Amino acid sequence: MPDNLIPQRRFNLLFLSTPVGAIGSGLGGGVELSIHNTAKAMIHRGHSVEIVAPSGSHLDGFSITQISGNLQIIAQSQERSTPINLPVNSVLANMWEYARQVENKFDLIVNFAYDWLPFYLTPFFSIPIAHIVSMGSLSDALDQTIAQISHKFPHTIGFCTASQAATFPNLNSPLYYLSNGIDLSLYKFCSQPRQQLAWLGRISPEKALEDAVQVAIQTDMQLKIMGKIQDESYWQQICHKYPHAPIEYLGFLSTDKMQEIVRQCAALIMTPRWVEAFGNVAIEALACGVPVISYRRGGPSEIIKDGETGFLVEPDNVYQLVNAVSKLNTINRLNCRQQAEQEFSLDALGTRFESWFQAIFQYSGLL
Ligand code: UDP
Repeated sequence: MPDNLIPQRRFNLLFLSTPVGAIGSGLGGGVELSIHNTAKAMIHRGHSVEIVAPSGSHLDGFSITQISGNLQIIAQSQERSTPINLPVNSVLANMWEYARQVENKFDLIVNFAYDWLPFYLTPFFSIPIAHIVSMGSLSDALDQTIAQISHKFPHTIGFCTASQAATFPNLNSPLYYLSNGIDLSLYKFCSQPRQQLAWLGRISPEKALEDAVQVAIQTDMQLKIMGKIQDESYWQQICHKYPHAPIEYLGFLSTDKMQEIVRQCAALIMTPRWVEAFGNVAIEALACGVPVISYRRGGPSEIIKDGETGFLVEPDNVYQLVNAVSKLNTINRLNCRQQAEQEFSLDALGTRFESWFQAIFQYSGLL
């Protein structure tokens, strides 16, 4: 039967969040916004969603199944060869124990954890599990289990972008690139920015905030910094190294407060030192009409249209970032908002996820 004649089926979905922090804490990075927006998009299409997350989680408009236990250490702080770790009374294990108890009430489990355990547990469940891989390759053990699941359960691995997926070895095709999406009504367009720049994200070495601070110094434009301080000593090093830089740290802000500042900025500066899987902050800035200047590496290099909605420069080259700032007047901010509307709406996100889920069901003979 052709795809367009397959009757639409309403799915009962169980979303399992990241085990590195409660939703709303900022510790989960972009996954917190992604789980929220994916749930919104699915519900809007008539599916039902239960979200399971560590205790203390909060999401506007959703009641969350709260699971207690100790948080997982973030993968970025570990070596590639570090053995898999689980703390005593692990929240990750507890969330998956809960999933095991309730699985017969659902059609599909959606895993948002970048961790080994959910992949390892996959064959022990009787319903399919869709795994969203939210970072590039960081751990040999995790790479191996992702590759194994991609062979044993084809179609069940979803990535954000092709450049992220390319960091993983031995994957079985087809691969799904889901990108991301946001509720555009929450981000207001601003045509007349101030002479200031924005930097958004977790303050952690892989995000290389120090490069953006140097851009602020060299352009003499104020840099508004927003985000969770995940690595306090790294942040202190930056403050000590650049005591007179024109920077202002505003804290970890709600989406509404964050977009209020970002939209008044001439550009968002992104400085990923790693292969950023996607970069939610890029599409949030575009939604406000703010061009994005980034290293040509990972997700941002697939999002930004060079010369049209921002600039892509050679990775780790601060001089080129500064040069791109001097060309900002050539960007029409309306193009930025339009790109967000065309590619990153909740509707576009819902379409991508729904067709991925359909593919999983079709392949497993459940549709
Ligand atoms: N963010 C936020 N408040 C802030 C700064 C950032 O809510 O003050 C959120 C932002 O909306 C984004 C996330 O932090 O969803 C960062 O995600 P991104 O995908 O850019 O990077 P990740 O942390 O996942 O590596």
